[in-house]
Amino acid sequence: MSKPRKPATIAAHAAGAIDHAAAGVVPPVQTSTTFLRNEGYDLVRPDNIYLRDDSDTVRHAEEVIRQLEGAAETLFFPSGMAAIAAAFRPLKAGEAVLVQSDIYYGAKKWITGFCERRDIAMHLIDASDAEALAAACAKIKPAILHVETPSNPLLKTIDIAKAAEAVQAHGGLLIVDATAATPALMQPLALGADIVMHSATKAINGHSDVLAGVLSANNAEGPHWQAIKLDRHDAGAVLGPFEAWLLIRAMRTLPLRVKAMTENAGVLAAHLNAHPAIDQVLYPGLPDHPGHALAAKQMSGFGSLMSVLVKGDASRALEVIGKLRVFLRATSLGGVESLVEHRPTIEPQSGLPENLIRVSVGIEDIDDLIADWDQALG
Ligand SMILES: *Cc1c(COP(=O)(O)O)cnc(C)c1O
Repeated sequence: MSKPRKPATIAAHAAGAIDHAAAGVVPPVQTSTTFLRNEGYDLVRPDNIYLRDDSDTVRHAEEVIRQLEGAAETLFFPSGMAAIAAAFRPLKAGEAVLVQSDIYYGAKKWITGFCERRDIAMHLIDASDAEALAAACAKIKPAILHVETPSNPLLKTIDIAKAAEAVQAHGGLLIVDATAATPALMQPLALGADIVMHSATKAINGHSDVLAGVLSANNAEGPHWQAIKLDRHDAGAVLGPFEAWLLIRAMRTLPLRVKAMTENAGVLAAHLNAHPAIDQVLYPGLPDHPGHALAAKQMSGFGSLMSVLVKGDASRALEVIGKLRVFLRATSLGGVESLVEHRPTIEPQSGLPENLIRVSVGIEDIDDLIADWDQALG
């Protein structure tokens, strides 16, 4: 048997997605909503009935992520939030969930409302404290423990292996939002997670032109995963073929892009951390970051997301942001272009430090990125 292929090879070949009919080296976009039956009324392709759940293009995209995650099965959704919602929707009234307190604000907002409507008890926890997490799992016995690592925007690092042990000991599932890590830097399923989630809108697509989300599971036969899959089919929250095709195209360079972004982020974080106008840089790649050793253990790189706390108040943070020329002022992360965002303006109720600037580092030349911050900091 041949050796298993390395991630860069899987990605570059889009897990073997070629056009068999035309002998093209890339797959076509197949947009048909419905599929033919023959004279005997048998499906010409038994795996293709109707686009709501049968799409070669979406399946190709899923196969790339499945192989990169080392998953049993992968499902794409039309957004990251649709993927998170799909992961929670099989829960029943009376169950409990445990959710990391400092996760992506949109996820916390939706999960909170969903749990209220469904009579599901939602508990919040600082999941970076592994002992507190184990104690909370023993007490609450959550059906789902949902964590995000590194977290957005505080860059907390969660011990996935310990979190998995803690929740699985009481019959629950661990879901890891690994958007900031990407499948190029971390494999949560191999560390014990039951389901790994990504907003593919971010680095998986990486070109800021596709909205998508993805879930991968280490056990395709589990009842929770089966319910997620059935609901995607029946309720119809599916990705369109054009988006899937763009994702296949983009994911060919995922390891390459993430490597370049991570290298840039490491250099920029060290530079800003030593800058007199900066109070603190939150980035797991910095040796003084509380999650540094753990991130070094469970990730193969520290990623491209960081938060920068400038010396001064909100107006000083906004002044610096306003002066940046290479970094674009926009929400989102993981794209080839560097972005900055003043999260406290977006989430005024969050209690985030008012001088916090979230930074997503792209693939530009590092000299331009550093020069841009130096001139903006003045
Ligand atoms: C953006 C993001 C989401 C939501 O994804 P969408 O594709 O915007 O719906 C969820 N989690 C994290 C960590 C994100 O950054």
